[in-house]
Amino acid sequence: MYSVPFNRPYVSGKEWEYVQDALAQGKLSSNGKYTKKCQHFFESKFGFGKTFLTHSCTQALEMAALLLNLGPEDEVILPSYAYVSTANAFALRGCQLIFADSRPDYPAIDETKIEDLISTRTRALVLVHYGGVACHMEPILELCKKYGLFLVEDAAAALDGYYLGKDGAALPLGSLGDFATFSFHETKNISCGEGGMLVVNNPAFLKEADLVWNRGTNRSEFEKGKSPSYEWVRLGSAFAPSEITAAWLWSQLESLALIQKKRAAVWNWYQMHLRRVLPYLSGQLPEIPLFAKHNFHTYYLVMDKNRDRDVLIDFLTSKGILSVFHYRCLHQSPYFKNKYLGKPLLQAEKYQERLLRLPVFADLDINLLEDRLLS
Ligand SMILES: *Cc1c(COP(=O)(O)O)cnc(C)c1O
Repeated sequence: MYSVPFNRPYVSGKEWEYVQDALAQGKLSSNGKYTKKCQHFFESKFGFGKTFLTHSCTQALEMAALLLNLGPEDEVILPSYAYVSTANAFALRGCQLIFADSRPDYPAIDETKIEDLISTRTRALVLVHYGGVACHMEPILELCKKYGLFLVEDAAAALDGYYLGKDGAALPLGSLGDFATFSFHETKNISCGEGGMLVVNNPAFLKEADLVWNRGTNRSEFEKGKSPSYEWVRLGSAFAPSEITAAWLWSQLESLALIQKKRAAVWNWYQMHLRRVLPYLSGQLPEIPLFAKHNFHTYYLVMDKNRDRDVLIDFLTSKGILSVFHYRCLHQSPYFKNKYLGKPLLQAEKYQERLLRLPVFADLDINLLEDRLLS
């Protein structure tokens, strides 16, 4: 048994009240009061374009891939050190996946390695703001402009993270790409068990996004009285979650500031005290680049040697603390390795072997953690 689990979902206390209210509204299917409240919150607080709640970030990525109308002739550049869904959404459309390496100093895509991967068939660039830490957006946005690429920000874990532009302005992650995707899976800062959201910042896709979200039908127009019936007008799916999910999410959004404050205390404790309580620790603490204001989603170490990771996991387990690692490089995955024709991606492979994540959740008891580590 672990006395410090890796994650525990936050409970605001208002969840059941709002779910019951959703029932009282007489509408439990999608796009009712709570869906609208959540979407309005995201649009007004973070300046996102139009937002669409989904059942997962995976689905939001699938929506983006469908909307971009990509197919087997098209290439998509994305980091290898990423979650399966980041790639799967585009593989489902038959696109060619071109994997990029990570930066040496932190796990985001190395923006200096992207240009070499661009060909006449490249249509889109998909980024992951790893652990809620921004990619280096200025050079990336310039590349997209120069080569006419669509930009998708996989901001799954990056809600309330920011990119600090040259002029010092804090730009919310998810507001910079043509599309951005978020996750409300229980392991993320804000959660409703399973959930997600597509952000459409490029107005050219707004109308189509609404059709895709509504199972490929013009149901929205019908509901507004603008169409006599509703029918199948394009490819789409049942991407919109029920009001039960949205009501739960709303209770969390109301607590966003508090959740972030609590997570910051845990993250900052590690950063200030880990070397004191573990004086023999081999490995690097996270380095947040100057252009990023992160969201306290992930605390990770990058060990000096591969085998140091197992040693530390065993040590932490003996103290009742669960630590975990991720991602397996996508270019070396069982599904993709025989299709991969690119170069070795040495930084991505380094993080695959040496990165270890420590527990971060809002109600983590720092005193208990310190006691366990010093015991
Ligand atoms: C969590 C995560 C996902 C998947 O989100 P789901 O909501 O579980 O589908 C995708 N990409 C990244 C970078 C993630 O961290």
